[in-house]
Amino acid sequence: QCVQVCPTAALTEAYHVDKVWEAINDPDKHVIVQTAPAIRVALGELFGMEPGTIVTGKMVTALKRMGFDAVFDTDFGADLTIMEEASELIYRIQNNKTLPILTSCCPAWVKFIEHQFPELLEVPSTCKSPHIMFGTIAKTYYAEKNGIDPDNIVVVSIMPCIAKKAEAKRPELTKDEHNNVDIVVTTRELGAMIKEAGIEFVNLPESEYDRPLGETTGASVIFGTTGGVIEAAVRTAYEWMTGEELKNVEFEQLRGMDGFKKATVRVGDKDLRIGIASGLGNARELLEEIREGKDKYDAIEIMACPGGCIAGGGQPYHHGNYEIVKKRQEAIYQEDRNKKLRKSHENPEILKLYKEYLGEPFGEVAHRLLHTHFEERERI
Ligand code: SF4
Repeated sequence: QCVQVCPTAALTEAYHVDKVWEAINDPDKHVIVQTAPAIRVALGELFGMEPGTIVTGKMVTALKRMGFDAVFDTDFGADLTIMEEASELIYRIQNNKTLPILTSCCPAWVKFIEHQFPELLEVPSTCKSPHIMFGTIAKTYYAEKNGIDPDNIVVVSIMPCIAKKAEAKRPELTKDEHNNVDIVVTTRELGAMIKEAGIEFVNLPESEYDRPLGETTGASVIFGTTGGVIEAAVRTAYEWMTGEELKNVEFEQLRGMDGFKKATVRVGDKDLRIGIASGLGNARELLEEIREGKDKYDAIEIMACPGGCIAGGGQPYHHGNYEIVKKRQEAIYQEDRNKKLRKSHENPEILKLYKEYLGEPFGEVAHRLLHTHFEERERI
């Protein structure tokens, strides 16, 4: 089923709400839902709340009342991504491998680089994106721990993003015995479902995500905004590379709404050169610089949507009003400050997952479950 997303009907978006209700109503299915970092600062707008209102607890209550068997946070997958991505960055630096490393959690730019810059396919990190990592862990570790047949688990991702629907169907991410993520719905679709269920969102009490796999850090929340993934990676890489505690975790030079930023971060005796682009025009400029050797970087982040996932194509429409997007961004940073733990490698449930199941970060099991590859595709 498709719904119109532009006035001329030139663009439509697949609508997957019915599939979610069908799964919830199937007594043989164990239906898990996960919510991306950017949803919590925008969902309230669909119910008349101010942009940037943090509605995490109300959203969890709504999802539980809708009948999901377990409600989890994609932020857990984001913390896991940082464990792998920071390890990969350090591995590449210490072994003179390809630099820069490029964060790989935005499927729209992944598609962009595969079609437009195939000669740079060694640059992206091989990490799966956070919701795909979470789906993989749900159908392996979580399934085993809870004695549930993975074939009976349905993973639903609530995403700020329409491209995540296509990502979940990529052959290299679905070739495993069990699909990682079964259904992707957007923030707007979630809003429609809450209304359909007759839930008065604004008056809901707050609830907590389910455990285990529910503990998250401030580093994972900032994935929702431009610059956030690279800042989260730097928080972990700094401590791993220097062996010293990082006291101030906020890297102002990596923040803000500019579409193209360059910054240098001192890590021990090394200067890490960082590039951040949001919007595909800026991404093209950054990738052309790298291809032509005009500037040198150690790590770069690209988000296809200007401002990052807070302004994603599945979010409540902001109609080009970037004041709304800025308020969402401020709320993301506030949510980071609200967290007791602000570095991914300090998440105790992540550490337990490695101890019980994955072994070493960037090790054999982690590689098999949490990494992917990219392919040259026809130029368009
Ligand atoms: Fe999706 Fe946009 Fe976020 Fe990329 S930046 S993951 S396209 S919402």
